[in-house]
Amino acid sequence: MNKIIGLLLFTLTLISCKTSEVEIIVDNGLLLKNAQIISPEDQTISSNDFIVTAGDSIVYVGEKKPKVKGAFTTIDANGKYIIPGLIDSHVHVTGTDALSDDEELQHPELVKLFREQLPKSYLYFGYTTLIDLGTAKPDRLVDFQKMEVRPDLYYAGGGAVIGNGYGLSNWEDEVPNFVYQENEAYPFPDSYVKENHTPEAVAKRIAESGAIVLKTYYEPGFDPAQPRFPTPSQKLMSNLKKEAHKNNLVLAVHGNSLEAHGFLAEAEVDVMAHGLWNWGNHRLDSTMVLPMEIKEVLDAEIKSKIGYMPTLQVINGLRELTNAEYLDNTELEHVLPKPLLDYYKANSNIMYANVFGNAPKHIIATNFNRISEQGKLSMKYMNDNGGKLLFGTDTPSSPTYGNPPGYNGYLEMLEMANAGIPLNKILAMATIENAKAFHLQKRYGTVEAGKKANLLILNKNPLRDITAYNDISQVVINGRPMNRETLSAHKD
Ligand SMILES: [Zn+2]
Repeated sequence: MNKIIGLLLFTLTLISCKTSEVEIIVDNGLLLKNAQIISPEDQTISSNDFIVTAGDSIVYVGEKKPKVKGAFTTIDANGKYIIPGLIDSHVHVTGTDALSDDEELQHPELVKLFREQLPKSYLYFGYTTLIDLGTAKPDRLVDFQKMEVRPDLYYAGGGAVIGNGYGLSNWEDEVPNFVYQENEAYPFPDSYVKENHTPEAVAKRIAESGAIVLKTYYEPGFDPAQPRFPTPSQKLMSNLKKEAHKNNLVLAVHGNSLEAHGFLAEAEVDVMAHGLWNWGNHRLDSTMVLPMEIKEVLDAEIKSKIGYMPTLQVINGLRELTNAEYLDNTELEHVLPKPLLDYYKANSNIMYANVFGNAPKHIIATNFNRISEQGKLSMKYMNDNGGKLLFGTDTPSSPTYGNPPGYNGYLEMLEMANAGIPLNKILAMATIENAKAFHLQKRYGTVEAGKKANLLILNKNPLRDITAYNDISQVVINGRPMNRETLSAHKD
């Protein structure tokens, strides 16, 4: 008799051979049978496999029928496809969707409803692992982790903002991890201790907060008519990288312009948190050709194996503020509480004006369509030339209802597929590639024994049809199977 004995939640003793029946004793387990498992690594699809989970872990995957004993639920996955839960490596879970801090104060009931639904909205679209890339409200990361049903959450904590730079145009106690840059024109405020704001001190503090990422920024600003924000020097970026790695943190950097990508390619950062859609003086024209200068920067990123998050939905989400029909999309009812959706409908013109002022909607729409196409062309070039694409949406990226939680990831996938990214690449990016880039591959990214029991049971094959990601039968989160409908904000 060959035995795999899974005892209680985590303890698992393996006394296994090859031939006869495998015995597994589980507590709080799950047996999936007739599973067609898709490997994100080589796109093979198994037939009639068995998966056994115990507690929050997968303990067995194989063709041989195991003899499962103990407390477990059986799911017949006949005709379905099993993939690992999806990872979105660029989200912000501490805000309240499109609401500003002032609006949050005015509408606490909307904040409460949204925050209760938020984790379920991500799960509704299959996102079982999230990486929060920077927040000014770290307390809310803790609140999120207290929710009973939620994706696994990793984070950058308080981002390492460049002193007086983007995201810190005024010194704020709420942004405690700003990095002081010696050559900067702004005097260091007396109220702070300089030694607490060196790359060394900041990286250490971020690591101690439990973060897995050091997030910093290269952003001179979005309006050329305004004075530039200070940006880091190569020396400072190199020190940040050194200190991040010393503390086992991944260095992820905000930047979306030709200037930023050029600088960060040279710095050989680990991850670019945005795609290259702002082409500086270049503009996409009807020839749809990528300018040589853009290619050169992308080539440098490919050569340095920098992880590249296209974040196409940043631009598309802003463009939706110009779209009068957007809020009538019934998919939104699954991820946003109805009172919040009603608030958006009542205030859409104010929200547009807050972002775009008096600019005519059709001009904004045309510009954002062009910028969106620029982002897609840059992404396609990365894909076609061996670049390391990662799946990250930046949800929500700005005060727009165009980046709804969970659904935004699905929209990003649709855009990628539209732009010609092969479906097997999209699956790999959102699973194993993200897991590797953020050093999470021991527990995430594939369906294998030893990994987290975070699985999606799909009605369609996602290697054939991108809409499979919106045709989920069940989401298994930490070993707990949930029918998709139970995660929807829409209550009949
Ligand atoms: Zn972001």
